Amino acid sequence: MLRTMTLGGLTTAALVALAVTGGTAQEDRTVAMQSLDVRENLYVISGGGGHTAALVTENDGVVLVDTKLAGWGQPILKTVLLITDQPVTLIINTHTHGDHVGGNLDFPANVEIVAHEATATRMRSMAPFAGAGAVGLPDRTFTDRLTLLQGKDQIDLYHFGAGHTDGDTVVVFPGIGMAHLGDLFAVMGTPYIDVANGGSGVAYPDTLDRIVASIDGIRRVIPGHIPPPTGSPIRDWTTWANVEEYARFNRDFLDSVRASKAAGRSVDDAVAALDLQTRYPSYTMDRAAANVQAIYDELDGR
Ligand SMILES: [Zn+2]
Repeated sequence: MLRTMTLGGLTTAALVALAVTGGTAQEDRTVAMQSLDVRENLYVISGGGGHTAALVTENDGVVLVDTKLAGWGQPILKTVLLITDQPVTLIINTHTHGDHVGGNLDFPANVEIVAHEATATRMRSMAPFAGAGAVGLPDRTFTDRLTLLQGKDQIDLYHFGAGHTDGDTVVVFPGIGMAHLGDLFAVMGTPYIDVANGGSGVAYPDTLDRIVASIDGIRRVIPGHIPPPTGSPIRDWTTWANVEEYARFNRDFLDSVRASKAAGRSVDDAVAALDLQTRYPSYTMDRAAANVQAIYDELDGR
């Protein structure tokens, strides 16, 4: 079942609901699509996991960044069909989490999948990919940097070290001054540090500082999970200045935790000593205790 609608007046935003019947449960899988620029070749598709970016290239098909949870590939594909006849040719996965790679399985085998080498390694041993042959897994990997396509469709992939996981990719669209940061920048607040997948609270600020220092000319950013405002094209969302502030926040967080550790404070007392709310009033601190613990463990070599 395919249903489309327009949000607001002069918009190209679309909602696609795909009703999937499985067993006795019926799940309504709805995604929303909004353009990010007046030229309308970059879109964000939200719902069903992490944000998906869709770049409609001149002649090379549609490039997707991330594919949401398993079962959400079809809603992505149907949404893309609303804006172009070009097929999806390339998928970039920003990291290994199931809410960013699960939809890979819904795409034909001739769609190339690209990810950081550490992400590809982790995906091979996780559900739903393990034991499924090569279906939905990266065909091509990179270590530090990889450039795809050219001209205004150029895409630069960067890996600057551990953070959210050990295989986080920053996806830059230099021709249009935009970037997708995946869950390295998922929320405006304390990040999720997935230690089991190689994430590091100690390396996180270094990784963010390298992003800020190394990448130029980006005005706007697609975050992993911050909800987009309504309207299409989206006018105000996360910017490069937000990334710079987020890097400072994570540096300040680590500096404070290191100082608390040196002072012999407990995790609870280290959280109380953070004192970041005055400098970052809009930031959520819900993962503060977990992140202090993760950093304490890491500093202890555990
Ligand atoms: Zn994630």
